[in-house]
Amino acid sequence: MREPEIDVRTLPQHVGPPDVWQDAAACYGIDPEVFFPTTEEEAGLALSYCTVCRVRDLCLAWAVQNGERYGVWGGTTEQQRRRLIRRVA
Ligand code: SF4
Repeated sequence: MREPEIDVRTLPQHVGPPDVWQDAAACYGIDPEVFFPTTEEEAGLALSYCTVCRVRDLCLAWAVQNGERYGVWGGTTEQQRRRLIRRVA
């Protein structure tokens, strides 16, 4: 799985909660279970939605700023997000 090249410090600040932007999301209406895979290897389908999502930066910013530990957010898996955050800590 390819590692995202993102500096989380460059993400939008003070992002509103998902109900503000989720109706513009590529995953709008998709079964949320897709975005909570049990393994990293099963995250491929969720990540494919994120690839074409217009609110990806908002989604990732929300997850990082609110400590979302579980699931796929903003084109990252749980482990990828932890590494991105650790990189700038
Ligand atoms: S980035 Fe991914 S998880 Fe976030 S709103 Fe878009 S499709 Fe959904």
